[in-house]
Amino acid sequence: MTNTKHCGKVVIIGSGFVGASAAFALAISDVVNEIIIIDINTQRAQGDVLDICHGMALSGATKVIVGGYEDVRDADVIIITAGSPRKPGETRLDLLKKNESIARDITKNIMENYNSGIILVISNPVDILTYIIKKESGLPSSKVFGSGTMLDSTRFRYLISEHFKVNVTDINGLLIGEHGESVVPLWSLVTIGGIHLDDFCSIYNKSIEKDKIEEEIRAAGAKVIQFKGATYYAIAIIIERLVKAIVKNQNAIFPLSSVIDGPYALKDVALSLPSIVNSTGIQQVMEVSITNAEYQKLLVSSDKLKSVLATL
Ligand code: NAD
Repeated sequence: MTNTKHCGKVVIIGSGFVGASAAFALAISDVVNEIIIIDINTQRAQGDVLDICHGMALSGATKVIVGGYEDVRDADVIIITAGSPRKPGETRLDLLKKNESIARDITKNIMENYNSGIILVISNPVDILTYIIKKESGLPSSKVFGSGTMLDSTRFRYLISEHFKVNVTDINGLLIGEHGESVVPLWSLVTIGGIHLDDFCSIYNKSIEKDKIEEEIRAAGAKVIQFKGATYYAIAIIIERLVKAIVKNQNAIFPLSSVIDGPYALKDVALSLPSIVNSTGIQQVMEVSITNAEYQKLLVSSDKLKSVLATL
């Protein structure tokens, strides 16, 4: 019998809403052999492990266990989801004080055991923490990156699909810059079934209020937090997709946050730009053609992040 499963090992640090949901999504998709969960609350991690394992008889038998930092040694992907989430009324940047020291501590523990894996940062503020973890680890930016504006981009595609009543996977579009208030929607690159948004609107006599969609994207996370206290399913789907792109060496293109050195004349700041991802990590950060107005917004986003980095 041939085993088509990839030999991936994933370590998830932080077994809260996001970490546990990511473990669940990865276990169901059967994309890796092993999922190791680390949390300071070992009882919580143990509970999540048992809960997932109790269903594995029907879903691919991925090995899911509670582990320790020694598991980082032969991990393909190390996912950081530990730290405080936003409370109602808080911005992602408000989390920095709480999550900076957790991120530094975790990085130290990872690097004591590190061999060659990719570090995927999810905890917020994701751009600032990606910068800190990259610098603290001393690893190249290809090996340390954050999910960045992936979630903003899937929300963007969802909102456009709802507006036009078109299948969401047929909508393409992305946001770049900060995963936060200064995120930059690239309306100039939106396509619907391959047709540019403006052409789609004029051919089918439709319109869209771009400002309204932008406002909804910026408020989307807070809305979910207001309704149920946390956001975790969409980011778990994103984590699963990223791990798949890595372990299957897919050269997939996503907007990811990494320390930028060159594209759009940006330097020494972590923010999201479209990036090609494979088993080596970010193989290329792309400089796609955007309008001048979009570029100006990207500069504002970069300046905002740099001013936060200057306070560290
Ligand atoms: P949570 O409070 O449910 O879970 C956090 C977990 O981290 C807890 O189980 C806690 O015990 C653990 N933890 C804390 N310090 C630790 C340490 N030093 N080592 C190991 N584990 C530690 O929070 P959550 O809802 O799962 O959110 C986690 C993070 O993910 C937050 O920062 C949140 O803002 C972020 N998030 C990011 C995105 C994104 O798009 N990047 C989306 C959703 C949530």
